[in-house]
Amino acid sequence: MNFECDVLIIGGGPSGLLTGSLISKKGFKTIILEEHGEIGRPEQCTGLVSWRIGEIPERIVLNTVKTARFCLGKHYFEVSSRKKMLVINRFEYDKYLAENAIENMVVIKTGEKAIGIKNGRVITNRGNTYQGRIIVGADGPNSITARLSGLKQPGNLLFALQCVAKGLFEEDVVEIRFEKEFSEDGFAWIVPMDKNRARVGLVTKGNPLPRLTTFLKKLNLEVVDRPVGDSIRFGLMCKTVAFNTILVGDAACQIKPFSFGGLVYGKICSNIAGEACVKALEENNFEEKFLVESYESKWKGEIWKAMKKGLWMRRFFNLVRRIPFSFTLINKIGLDILAEKTLDPDFLK
Ligand SMILES: Cc1cc2nc3c(=O)[nH]c(=O)nc-3n(C[C@H](O)[C@H](O)[C@H](O)COP(=O)(O)OP(=O)(O)OC[C@H]3O[C@@H](n4cnc5c(N)ncnc54)[C@H](O)[C@@H]3O)c2cc1C
Repeated sequence: MNFECDVLIIGGGPSGLLTGSLISKKGFKTIILEEHGEIGRPEQCTGLVSWRIGEIPERIVLNTVKTARFCLGKHYFEVSSRKKMLVINRFEYDKYLAENAIENMVVIKTGEKAIGIKNGRVITNRGNTYQGRIIVGADGPNSITARLSGLKQPGNLLFALQCVAKGLFEEDVVEIRFEKEFSEDGFAWIVPMDKNRARVGLVTKGNPLPRLTTFLKKLNLEVVDRPVGDSIRFGLMCKTVAFNTILVGDAACQIKPFSFGGLVYGKICSNIAGEACVKALEENNFEEKFLVESYESKWKGEIWKAMKKGLWMRRFFNLVRRIPFSFTLINKIGLDILAEKTLDPDFLK
């Protein structure tokens, strides 16, 4: 079958759902294609976000944390956030966003994977074709929309894997570990969901499973569920608009290059994407130049500097992690206190 709409969104993750809601709310016909059979599944996210995620129902918040403990062997330092960070239930969050989108009249087609494009129409695995006056690629780190529209995603690719483990945890402390055996280019984490359960995972180059197994063994934790994960693509993506197509969220690498959190930047940029699409539809202007001005320049204005700070922080950590006692030194010379006073978790200040 052939379907037509004002905006066709590929990807039913948070970025696609938020963008779609905004557009549809203004009365424009919006369709979201999601390859999986259910929104929010598989749940492959730790769900650690700052207050900038905005107002969400209480039932979605599993825990609040205040302190990040950065560890390298027996050396460590701590940084506390002025405002508490939230640990959310990512499946419930996506479900909540989908319910909002449906309330705003977005049509969500699950089990429908975009596989190609022909004569301006997106073709799916079910043999359907979809045409939108604007196409939004919200299809994550390995975006087919980017590929089909000639937008080059950065080549920095890591793999993250996590599971839920049972044990005894400090409820308001997130532990981030930089030992080489867990990850040479990323880190491992323990994010408490409550006193007795935590999301334990790591992000690294290559296959993360053997490293996660080692990490869990060292911690002597009981694993509650099967490990789940995904690619993490990061870096500055200069071009995110091509013709009538825009990329948003992980598809546009709108993630923090230090912690690899993408929910807050994705939310900020989805708002801008939604507004830009509405403006284009109201003014009947789908030229690339117009979309660059109303979307790309604006999202860069909001988070580009913060992303650069994140990249700088990543370089700093990759340097100091080579020196075993450096994390104690950071504490001794008061760099941790300076960070606490001057940095915010999203690098937006
Ligand atoms: C293990 C792990 C832990 C993480 N922890 C955190 C964290 O604690 N805090 C944080 O802020 N971020 C975290 N992230 C990152 C966060 O999950 C992403 O930044 C966020 O999901 C981005 O949302 P999105 O909507 O842009 O992309 P996604 O959530 O990736 O959504 C893209 C959607 O598009 C669909 N899709 C892809 N291709 C197609 C296609 N061809 N056709 C149709 N549909 C398609 C996918 O199925 C998916 O549903 C983590 C990531 C991983 C892997």
